[in-house]
Amino acid sequence: MAHNDSETLGECPACGGKFGTVQVGPYQVDRCGACSGVWLDERELEKILAVDHRILKQKRSDAESAAPKDKKGKCPRCGGTLIKMANLRANINTDSCSVCYGMFLDAGELDALDQPNLVASIGQLLRKLIGRH
Ligand SMILES: [Zn+2]
Ligand SMILES: [Zn+2]
Repeated sequence: MAHNDSETLGECPACGGKFGTVQVGPYQVDRCGACSGVWLDERELEKILAVDHRILKQKRSDAESAAPKDKKGKCPRCGGTLIKMANLRANINTDSCSVCYGMFLDAGELDALDQPNLVASIGQLLRKLIGRH
């Protein structure tokens, strides 16, 4: 019998801490309990930016000191290698998995992505995709 289900993540790539689940609007997001870094699967970023995600940024100031900035470990989802990838939506580099395309965001990085224009445009896009009449 498996003691972890398939949704369970491995260690936090930034600090080795354990991920917990945070409810963000209708979505469940994996957040490190130690450094508040957030793990997002390939399409989760757009989803959570379109809903109220303040909860993910609560511990931002704490997180800055807790998380080592340079070195990241393995993908907590699949064990793949994390590489720095320029995020087209904001002027930041995210640590993205070269295998499953999940991405790790430090708590401060999520804040950088949180721009009003961006949220509005993504919201419109989502409405087009799912709420089309
Ligand atoms: Zn962590
Ligand atoms: Zn991966």
